[in-house]
Amino acid sequence: MTFSSLGLSPQILEAIQKAQYENPYPIQQQAIPAILNGKDVLGLAPTGSGKTASYVLPILHKLQKRDSAQGRDIPVLVIVPTRELAAQVQEVVKTFSAHLPRKVKSMAVFGGVSINPQMMKLHGTDILVATPGRLLDLLSKKAIHLDQLDTLVLDEADKVLNLGFKLEVDEILSRLPKKRQNILFSATMDEAVEKLIDKLLHKPVKIEA
Ligand code: AMP
Repeated sequence: MTFSSLGLSPQILEAIQKAQYENPYPIQQQAIPAILNGKDVLGLAPTGSGKTASYVLPILHKLQKRDSAQGRDIPVLVIVPTRELAAQVQEVVKTFSAHLPRKVKSMAVFGGVSINPQMMKLHGTDILVATPGRLLDLLSKKAIHLDQLDTLVLDEADKVLNLGFKLEVDEILSRLPKKRQNILFSATMDEAVEKLIDKLLHKPVKIEA
């Protein structure tokens, strides 16, 4: 299996080559075509499986066909449990988007640092990677709008819940438009994660690393 058989555009394939990824990992072989097809995806995958690129690559492919984000409207939101993961995901986005013809602006936002510098840089963000608490703060300050959201990723959903962010996630979900694509990754499964999956995903393609 090669990356070129998954439906990605030549520009994205070039970015993959530059990152020196030779062949897609199993999770990528399954997730990339499903996400390109607009399906909701449930990924059972731990860190190290290649889960990040499995959603970042098809999302970048899709963004290449859209106009740049405008003002405070966010088209792609990635919710993560920790600031470390937020920074890591944004690094992967940056790696693959560095040479794309249509510029992609990504931002990582998380708590524990002051909010104002983050707010000033948000304009025109295509991909926002955020921890739940800081995301709600930004929403309540009207620094971002999610009513045009196209794609939602909830990464490490089990950890998001284990860290006690259930109410924050519920609040965020209640503010999203109904019509959107949803992608959820979790390393483990329990009742709380299952409930969230039922709430969030519509007829998901289920994949395991
Ligand atoms: P992740 O599970 O997303 O944290 O990725 C784990 C590590 O695997 C990261 O260091 C990635 O850069 C690397 N990686 C992901 N996919 C590939 C691939 N297809 N080929 C080589 N390295 C990869």
